[in-house]
Amino acid sequence: KSFEELGLDSRLIRALSKKGIEKPTLIQQSSIPYILEGKDIVARAKTGSGKTLAYLLPLLQKLFSVDSGSKKKLAPSAFILVPSRELCQQVYSEVSSLIELCRVQLKAVQLTSSMTASDMRNALAGLPEILVSTPACIPKCFAAGVLEPTAVSESLEILVLDEADLLLSYGYEDNLRSVTSIIPRRCQCLLMSATTSSDVEKLKKLILHNPIVLTL
Ligand code: AMP
Repeated sequence: KSFEELGLDSRLIRALSKKGIEKPTLIQQSSIPYILEGKDIVARAKTGSGKTLAYLLPLLQKLFSVDSGSKKKLAPSAFILVPSRELCQQVYSEVSSLIELCRVQLKAVQLTSSMTASDMRNALAGLPEILVSTPACIPKCFAAGVLEPTAVSESLEILVLDEADLLLSYGYEDNLRSVTSIIPRRCQCLLMSATTSSDVEKLKKLILHNPIVLTL
């Protein structure tokens, strides 16, 4: 199937084309339609499979409609939580370049644990729709009063846990709990993981509602 047949917006298809990406990978073919439909998913996908775009493309498309006209929310609409600073940078640059190529009024920021509370405050001051972060930053933001848990509860539409197996093995479980405890029922949750350990199963039960399970 083509990106068009998966239901992807023409702005995204054009942006991909500029990056030399014409044909969806297997994980993109299977996940994009479900994510656009609003389903929670668990996708077992390794680095190199195209897993990042598999969630970024439909996530952006969903935010295109939030983008038009409505007044800025006080907290981000999407959280993308990743286990390392390197992956944070990688996902952030991918999402930023897509936003730029699509010419939409969306803003993404990245937060990493090396940032001070005031760095985080500055990053969030522009009211970004998309936050890419390692999990430890979220409780730090709450504690510093840089993000209000109630505002997050009201704003959050999509939560992505990328490399969920590593998120857990790196000891981010408590940090994740401070996010999952406030996510609203309407929030769509996407869990990407290279393996499916018992920890990942636990996380899946904790945050997902009738997820579609994709294994490739
Ligand atoms: P990932 O699995 O997300 O780490 O992606 C691995 C690499 O594949 C990245 O450099 C992407 O830009 C590239 N990529 C993702 N999707 C596609 C696609 N459909 N066609 C060609 N390259 C892709």
